[in-house]
Amino acid sequence: MIKTTAETVLAAAAAHAASFRKRLDSLPQHARKTHGDMVQIFREPLPAHGGDAHGVIDELVTKAEPGLQFSAGRRFFAWVIGSSHPAGVAADWLTSAWGQNAGNHIAAPAAAAVETIAAEWLLQLLGLPRQSSIGFVTGATVANFTCLAAARGEVLRQAGWDADAQGLFGAPPVTVVIGDDAHATVFSALQFLGLGHDRVTRVATDDQGRIIPAAFATALAGVSGPCIVILQAGQINTGGFDPFAEIIPLAKAKGAWVHVDGAFGLWAAAAPARRALCSGVALADSWATDGHKWLQAPYDSGFAIVRDEVAHRRAMTVAASYLPLTAEGERDPSHYVPELSRRARGFAVWAIIKTLGESGIAEMVERNCRVAARVAEILAREAGVRIGNDVVLNQAIARFGADEPPERGDQITADTIAMVQKEGTCYVGSARWRGRLVMRFSVSGGETTEDDGERSAAAIIACYRKALNGA
Ligand SMILES: *Cc1c(COP(=O)(O)O)cnc(C)c1O
Repeated sequence: MIKTTAETVLAAAAAHAASFRKRLDSLPQHARKTHGDMVQIFREPLPAHGGDAHGVIDELVTKAEPGLQFSAGRRFFAWVIGSSHPAGVAADWLTSAWGQNAGNHIAAPAAAAVETIAAEWLLQLLGLPRQSSIGFVTGATVANFTCLAAARGEVLRQAGWDADAQGLFGAPPVTVVIGDDAHATVFSALQFLGLGHDRVTRVATDDQGRIIPAAFATALAGVSGPCIVILQAGQINTGGFDPFAEIIPLAKAKGAWVHVDGAFGLWAAAAPARRALCSGVALADSWATDGHKWLQAPYDSGFAIVRDEVAHRRAMTVAASYLPLTAEGERDPSHYVPELSRRARGFAVWAIIKTLGESGIAEMVERNCRVAARVAEILAREAGVRIGNDVVLNQAIARFGADEPPERGDQITADTIAMVQKEGTCYVGSARWRGRLVMRFSVSGGETTEDDGERSAAAIIACYRKALNGA
């Protein structure tokens, strides 16, 4: 048996990765195999004996590639999935190769330090209060969880209850106020925290999924005692933003903790021409956002941002006698996240921000928004196609057969989506919006251009015409 060295197996992986990225654009933009196919491809008995690492990596590539989705490409529009910037991927490889455990600053001095610096940069990019602390988590789901844990602890502490120590048994009730079109994962976070995904006060939203201020004021009027308000920057279908400047002061007047889920939408603040959408967002107490969506960090990467560092740390600190005590100025990454041992996520974030810079990030966000608007404009010119949202950000939703009876419209929309996914110029998704099926078109590829948008729009229209004729 050949004994592979670290050097050869790492070089082989790099060569495979570069080759994959090079071929990406010229292939049909969809996975060639289904999940079921892939289970068959990978299924084999537990290996009784090991194999050569180089051979294993070659086999992994051969087996996995047919089942890879094209989210790292330029025309993947089904969900807001960033395209894993090469600089971030390279830094992420090093992160793995270095094998750092970013739990604390002694186990990983560089990893802990780079998070400090990347956190300062992130707060500047997003226009958030500079004293805020950031936990480098797996994604916005855990960021929402982390921020809401800090919120829960703080609103109860102010009511004289130590939830971190005593839990919720016998605690004063907490009112949670949330918009009707909040993301599903926010409700999951409430579930994990014992706050319940149904035991919330839901507030009516408008046709863009934004909280209606009058409904918000009514919901808040009856509130007394501990209260958490959850707002949104970037609704998943419409890209809509809650009217922060108008409603956050109402919540603050009630002593509520205001949390904002801005998984991708918060990045509007990084682009001058879109920044107004985030107006007032910095008045909140905590913010969840993703690195692996619009910043193009490789998966997994998210940020739990909390204005009050003490509330953040109270909710997350792991105390054990064998863990080093933090002296002044030493940052333990584990103080801000639910995990102890974890990946040094800061390296990739640092590398991407260094590579793109503030202007590169602004340009990318703005370009993605322009692509979404351009696609919507082209689609809207076609008879029977209707855009279902104001395209203010990177999101467009389209209805096909819009003048047909609703059931027939659903069918034509479903057929169009299926045909686009098969045709391969681009990959789009679907959703139900206000009870009806729509095509979702989310633009978040780091390299996606207006030309990609125009090609994709033309392919979508060609598929729609076929779907209309029952082809
Ligand atoms: C993607 C998304 C989430 C969840 O983020 P993950 O990174 O998938 O955990 C939450 N809220 C919104 C608005 C999102 O778009």
